[in-house]
Amino acid sequence: MSNEYTSQGFTTKAVHAGYDPDPATGAVNVPVYASSTFAQDGVGGLRSGFEYARTGNPTRTALEANLAAIESGRFGRAFASGMAASDCALRATLRPGDHLVIPNDAYGGTFRLIDKVLTQWGVDYSVAPVSDPDAVAAAIRPTTKLVWAETPTNPLLNIADIGALADIAHRAGAKLVVDNTFASPYLQQPLELGADIVLHSTTKYIGGHSDVVGGALITDDAELDAAFGFLQNGAGAVPGPFDAFLTLRGIKTLALRMDRHSSNAEHVAEFLTRHRAIDRVIYPGLPEHPGHLVASKQMRRYGGMVSVLLRGGKQAALDFCARTSIFTLAESLGGVESLIEHPGAMTHASTAGSLLEVPDNLVRLSVGIEDSADLLADLDQALR
Ligand SMILES: *Cc1c(COP(=O)(O)O)cnc(C)c1O
Repeated sequence: MSNEYTSQGFTTKAVHAGYDPDPATGAVNVPVYASSTFAQDGVGGLRSGFEYARTGNPTRTALEANLAAIESGRFGRAFASGMAASDCALRATLRPGDHLVIPNDAYGGTFRLIDKVLTQWGVDYSVAPVSDPDAVAAAIRPTTKLVWAETPTNPLLNIADIGALADIAHRAGAKLVVDNTFASPYLQQPLELGADIVLHSTTKYIGGHSDVVGGALITDDAELDAAFGFLQNGAGAVPGPFDAFLTLRGIKTLALRMDRHSSNAEHVAEFLTRHRAIDRVIYPGLPEHPGHLVASKQMRRYGGMVSVLLRGGKQAALDFCARTSIFTLAESLGGVESLIEHPGAMTHASTAGSLLEVPDNLVRLSVGIEDSADLLADLDQALR
């Protein structure tokens, strides 16, 4: 869906883009169009472009226009999950014999899809630390068609210089895709920094309330968007209208939530830096974080994710996860409620034994929007 909201501020676009009050009823929110098919006025006579809801549904169209607007892109596509969006991005850009470069701490599901599925179709990959542009450049081959970046990465919160990676990819004739799930479009705008494709798990900050699974691809490139649209319809991993509605509802408060997530995460990071049970706090907002300068250059704030390495090893990490009460032990992230997890045993278990294996004393916090004093007290008692 094409975007015509380029000159407005972020939150104005978040609240309004993609939908005007319904001319018939005045409804200020897009209805949940629970209709799988649309009546035609004579064969091929579509009333407003809709024929069958896998191909397009008005609630989803509103979401897609909104997603394009908030990422400052021309085209947005919504999917049934972040992984469905990743699958579409990979299959739209790669053919047998092609090669891609992926981060050495990519999201576990992304790594699994590439390593276990894509390789069966003759696509090869190399792993490189995305925080080191020289290492990414060194991993490029004549057959490289795609550079995959996350920033901040999950779960180690490494920072990739999006502009530098875009130059490297483009010099090689490859596309750069940025998984912007951890930052959200409010904190970081990869297309403006040179990326070709932005990917989201809208399940996380964009939805923001842990009540819907979804994904998105945004691009300025009409050819790429056409390829995404072909696969979106052809493979059919589309979100239903109620999922699209929930995601749109989440987006309206994205900026407010991200500011609060960022403030709370800053408090948590500072607090844990001084805690003797903690060996190291990983948060891009801390001046000692190796990616702090790049993050300051390309992000509005540093986001709501904080990772920590426990002094007492794996058992201390597992105990920490078991003892919090406000922080709920659960996978996922980006919702209003605070979550805690052990990546090695949970979200990133599929990376065990691979180049992407994570330290076993690592704990990942998704800092919610609760009162920060309560969050600090909860962490303190859990570390005792
Ligand atoms: C969760 C996540 C995904 C996958 O999205 P789903 O909606 O769970 O399919 C991809 N990338 C990142 C960074 C994620 O956190």
